[in-house]
Amino acid sequence: VPELPEAETIARDLRGAVRGATVVAVLVHRADVLRECDATNFVARVTGTRLEEFGRRAKCIVATLSSGDRLVVTPRFTGALLVEGGSMRVDDADYTAIQLRLGDGRTVRYRDVRRLGTVALMSGPRFLEWSAAIGPEPLDRGLTAGRFSALVRASKRAIKTILMDQRRLAGIGNIYANEALWRAGIRPTRPGSRVKPTEAAQLLDSLRAVLRESIELRGTSFRDYRDAFGGRGGFVERLEVYGRGGEPCSRCGTMLKAHHKLDGRATVYCPRCQP
Ligand SMILES: [Zn+2]
Repeated sequence: VPELPEAETIARDLRGAVRGATVVAVLVHRADVLRECDATNFVARVTGTRLEEFGRRAKCIVATLSSGDRLVVTPRFTGALLVEGGSMRVDDADYTAIQLRLGDGRTVRYRDVRRLGTVALMSGPRFLEWSAAIGPEPLDRGLTAGRFSALVRASKRAIKTILMDQRRLAGIGNIYANEALWRAGIRPTRPGSRVKPTEAAQLLDSLRAVLRESIELRGTSFRDYRDAFGGRGGFVERLEVYGRGGEPCSRCGTMLKAHHKLDGRATVYCPRCQP
């Protein structure tokens, strides 16, 4: 599932490739991925606009249109935003949900095999309202160690669950929560209220380091994630705990433990390094 580094990679790819391009035609093949508007409305509001800017909020790619509207794409499990040459295809075989044809003949295609991802069209004010309901961005300098510590320690829920709660903190999913907790030496099930302020500061540093390293390597390709050119990310080689239950901890050699007790998601940790 694309998390912050993967969404950031896609947004940067799109910024470099198609920022400033005009959308001359829009095809909606699968209207069920649309949110906050219907297909007719979507075509009418997007056709003729310019793609002014691309950014990211949490795990979503955000395109700002010259009309002031925002396109908010949440890839979830199998969604991909691809920049392609050539004409728009109309067959269903490649799981195309939406296509934007650009003035220079290229297309931006949203493909989604399972169609659990979404494409929302929001007005400027609606976007701000949506964004305000999501927690702070972990890479934002405004999130100080003090603020992060307060956020973590305010809850008795498991620290890993807190990290993945989008209302408290943006963009972190199962992969980076597991990795950051291993780096910081904190057991994923420990209640947030029992994480010391010094440990919280260490955790924020670990989280930022793991996110920055993954962005540098264009994300983690597990299963279906692809960047805007169909390529895979390289961070999968750097994973220390995620997907490695039963293997030795690279720091101390103890066998890593895995369970599904937190929200049914795979939690992997070192019983020795992470008290
Ligand atoms: Zn260890």
